[in-house]
Amino acid sequence: MEEKVLIVRYGEIAMRGNNRKLFVTRLVNAIRKNLDDMGDYYVVREQGRLIVEDRGGEMDFDKVIPRVVCILGITGVCPALKTTEQDIENIKKVCEQHINEIGIDDYKTFKVETKRSDKRYPLGSREVSAAVGEYILEKFPQLTVDVHEPDLTVNVELRNDAYVYSKLIKGFGGLPVGSSGKGIAMLSGGIDSPVAAFMMAKRGVEVEGVYFNSPPYTSERAKQKVVDLAERLSVFTGGFKLYVVPFTDLQLYLLDNVPHDKLTIFLKRAMTRVACTLGERDEALAVITGDSVGQVASQTMQGLHAISAAATMPILRPLAGFDKQEIVDIARKIGTFDISIRPYEDCCTIFVAKHPETKPKTSIIEKIESKLTELDKYLEEAIENTEVIEL
Ligand code: ATP
Ligand code: MG
Repeated sequence: MEEKVLIVRYGEIAMRGNNRKLFVTRLVNAIRKNLDDMGDYYVVREQGRLIVEDRGGEMDFDKVIPRVVCILGITGVCPALKTTEQDIENIKKVCEQHINEIGIDDYKTFKVETKRSDKRYPLGSREVSAAVGEYILEKFPQLTVDVHEPDLTVNVELRNDAYVYSKLIKGFGGLPVGSSGKGIAMLSGGIDSPVAAFMMAKRGVEVEGVYFNSPPYTSERAKQKVVDLAERLSVFTGGFKLYVVPFTDLQLYLLDNVPHDKLTIFLKRAMTRVACTLGERDEALAVITGDSVGQVASQTMQGLHAISAAATMPILRPLAGFDKQEIVDIARKIGTFDISIRPYEDCCTIFVAKHPETKPKTSIIEKIESKLTELDKYLEEAIENTEVIEL
């Protein structure tokens, strides 16, 4: 019996060490989660790779592959035919079936490559390749053999079961999520912050998100946009936890009590404090933001210094040195761009100064802040009323 399966490859080097098992389990869970609503899928662990099987019928690769290949830590996937009957006559037939399925219109030359991890197999890998190659030549007279630069490489892998495949669809690679500890990303709904979250997730950081919500100055739709972005990010990682912090009261308090041209810096410091507190509770080790140096008034080196001074954990700014276009290119590639550009009010104009301070002095900001007697109370309230959304 042969069946369509998806072979999943992951970065072997990153997987060494004690946590290897845990990372594989995370990959398995991420695949299961992404396929959950599509049918009855099963993920089998097989010597350094994973095999996705469809227990509900014949696998639809066009549907399954996009849901799997995007998971971080996966280097690539191969649509394959699996057979439990490994005798050479059957292997030949399965190869023929595979070629018929992919179609040969695009190919003139081919070769067969065999890997044999089952050493009890009666034939050597070269013998298998030769026998299968001969059979293919017979069945598909249009094809000729080219062992150096073939248009088509038919791979035969003899393991516990046998697999035949010819295509590798590349994944993002990266490190498996969770292999680098946890971080909390400040997600605004703009273009930059989801890209920043993705970049850190790609380096193995387990990313959760925090959004500062200011109703009625920002709408329900603005919040929904961030939820949609978080959901999109969850596809890469197999899950995403989003905090939604009610920020209005704190924002109004700062509006009334700090110089208007410096308001943004105080708001960002307050956001940073809340992010650190929420992160610390979850044992996060860093805050992640979408800041890019020089992009807007609060993202000058001086502005970033004044904001960072409020943090109690490191702030990672993976986009610090990126141009806008570079960020947009990644946003498109990861499918967050179209969500990010949905029109919505970023924040009411009363909170934005016409001529914001671009070179704040941290010492002056801190001096003003030390006189804000109710700031801590508002911070605590915001944290207390934070909503958690699991995606
Ligand atoms: P983005 O495209 O991510 O919205 P931006 O270019 O609009 O960024 P700013 O508004 O200065 O820049 O925000 C800088 C960073 O601060 C954002 O990338 C994000 O990490 C964080 N941030 C800003 N506003 C919010 C918010 N309402 N909730 C959570 N994080 C925020
Ligand atoms: Mg923004």
